[in-house]
Amino acid sequence: MEKLIPKMQKLTQNLWWSWKPEVRTIFRDLDLDLYHKAHQNPMSVLKQISTEQLEQRAADVDVPARVDRALRQLQEYLTPTTTWGLTHAGAMRSRPIAYFCMEFGVHESLPIYSGGLGILAGDHLKSASDLGIPLVGVGLLYHEGYTNQVLDANLWQQDVVEPYDSADLPITQTVDRHGEPIQVSVEMAGRLVHAAVLEVQVGRIRLILLDTRVKKNSPKDVALAARLYGGDQRMRIEQELLLGVGGARALRALGIHASVFHLNEGHSAFALLERARYRIQMDGLAPHQALQEVASASVFTTHTPVDAGHDRFPADLITEYLRPLAEGLKLPLDEVLGLGRVNPHDHGSPFLPTVLALKLTRRANGVSALHGVVSRKMWNHLYPGTREEAVPIGHVTNGVHLPTWLATEMNHLYESHLGVGYQNSLTRPDTWSKIDNISYAEIWETKQVLKARTLRFIRKRHADTRARLGLPEIEPAPLDSDALTIGFARRFVPYKRPDLLFTDLDRLDRLVNHPERPVNLVFSGRAHPADNTGKGLIQRVGKLLEDPRFRHRILFIENYNIHVGRMLYQGIDAWLNNPQRPLEACGTSGMKVVLNGGLHISVRDGWWAEAYDGENGFAIGTGEIHADQAIQDQRDADDLFRLLEDEVVPLYYENRNHTGIPWCWVKRIKNSIRTLAWRFNADRMVKDYVEHLYLPAAIGSSCQMPPP
Ligand SMILES: *Cc1c(COP(=O)(O)O)cnc(C)c1O
Repeated sequence: MEKLIPKMQKLTQNLWWSWKPEVRTIFRDLDLDLYHKAHQNPMSVLKQISTEQLEQRAADVDVPARVDRALRQLQEYLTPTTTWGLTHAGAMRSRPIAYFCMEFGVHESLPIYSGGLGILAGDHLKSASDLGIPLVGVGLLYHEGYTNQVLDANLWQQDVVEPYDSADLPITQTVDRHGEPIQVSVEMAGRLVHAAVLEVQVGRIRLILLDTRVKKNSPKDVALAARLYGGDQRMRIEQELLLGVGGARALRALGIHASVFHLNEGHSAFALLERARYRIQMDGLAPHQALQEVASASVFTTHTPVDAGHDRFPADLITEYLRPLAEGLKLPLDEVLGLGRVNPHDHGSPFLPTVLALKLTRRANGVSALHGVVSRKMWNHLYPGTREEAVPIGHVTNGVHLPTWLATEMNHLYESHLGVGYQNSLTRPDTWSKIDNISYAEIWETKQVLKARTLRFIRKRHADTRARLGLPEIEPAPLDSDALTIGFARRFVPYKRPDLLFTDLDRLDRLVNHPERPVNLVFSGRAHPADNTGKGLIQRVGKLLEDPRFRHRILFIENYNIHVGRMLYQGIDAWLNNPQRPLEACGTSGMKVVLNGGLHISVRDGWWAEAYDGENGFAIGTGEIHADQAIQDQRDADDLFRLLEDEVVPLYYENRNHTGIPWCWVKRIKNSIRTLAWRFNADRMVKDYVEHLYLPAAIGSSCQMPPP
């Protein structure tokens, strides 16, 4: 026991466990209830479990041997002899990529993410780790995290802060050569805000997090980074300054000389100004030369085609914040302000971090092919005299980190048919063409195992919500186990149209309650705490589900997060995505479903516009866009109903052999995995960034910057 506990502690120190199911289950097997109460966090389980319980369970479930095995695997992972990164990105080893993001979704127990953007950033770090890419993440540690969704009796979303203790996570204070804790400070409108520089290990990757809980800060400044996306415009500016300027300073304080800054979304754009300021101060560069060099060594990824999704800071507010940076840049304040204005000469117009990022990076990209097109059009006016096709914004389509989202049972299936080492060649089409070697029965049976688990989880969550609200249990239990089960989980905002199917309730009734071919629908999703329109959508959908016609067939699950998401993606039969085209930049949840043998039903938007081939899922509509949104909505609703009634449901229920396997449905699952898995994973995404963006930017920077 004296030896076991330190070994287990060591295992909890690296978030590598978050994508190693066989490591997570060691802690789960110690105490299932405790494990879930602790948000599946091994370190927290280990802290809370009693010695007697640990001793008992250690013997019962072979913990020592499993821990030894896991530790050896971790050690091997951390000291690889060869990786893709060593052969393809070796040049960047001493000068890593600095990847900035406002949120990181690595695991549900580290609540510093809200949704898609953060989870993408988490997946980016994990694949960079697997591939051995020299990269460092830079973000903020929100000590109150993000809010949880709890519905009240009116089904109105309440945003509840659930305190978490960062001491229960493997977050460590960084220290300098003399063993002193590293801190940075940032000037903010006449005062200095300080932050401790902390770090978390995500496999081979360091994630640097700034924490404002330091003695030197006033209570107000401590609160500055309490919560992700909390507060007003002023707080937003301050958080963005902390991330960008503070993040760049933290890297230097750690002795990390980044070759390339990658800004994942515009929130961190101030990092570019700080980087240029430093070059001017330390290397004596002329201001415009410094800005140019920073631009050639920086990459910017934009994520939203929705205009309101871009920060716009009022001129009078931002001016006082940018004064110190302008002084350091030796440029007139108005010129620095102009870098963030659509028209630099339009004094008094708002300041957009996205515009700053576009002007100060040579390489920018959208997150799907279609989003690239939309972004070039959207920002064409920033490049006067440039044709739309020539606007310098390309695209790298997003992908998902397979080991994070894949069910263990699917992984076993893939290991036994694609080869045990298949995870080392995820991006090769021939890895996935072996899917045809798997028998129809094996795929179907595996999916049934996952589906049973997911349905159990959904019913339990739903029953818990009802019990809390004092609602009677639904008898018999909702969701027929054999029915086609379709999931819809995403942020509730109007453009994603979570209520599209509710535009014709009689038709929906006939669809879900068909006597021989019933359909279950499962909804989940949060609205931004300040978004009452989104909350109204949740309420509207939630209230409809009380309708006696629907309550056995359609459920809403509270608090969509990584944990709920994982459970849904793994066991659902099909995934529904019906946004207004072209407002979904990419979308990644459908990719997670595909890897787990589910089928994607989607508008031809985001990744689906380049992924759908007619036989690897389902497409809603043709992709044409009507100028009148009401007509478009009507058309899409009609198309969606027709698709479900005439194609999806028949495919699921017809052509069943004597053992009940729906031949054509499983064939489509195979098509889907074969044609999509190799492209829409995060290894492919990170490789694309390395080859098309990081390396060209690093080459540009290394011949101009002095060696570290
Ligand atoms: C993957 C994921 C998302 C992003 O998926 P979209 O398709 O872009 O909505 C959001 N939230 C969670 C919890 C996820 O796992």
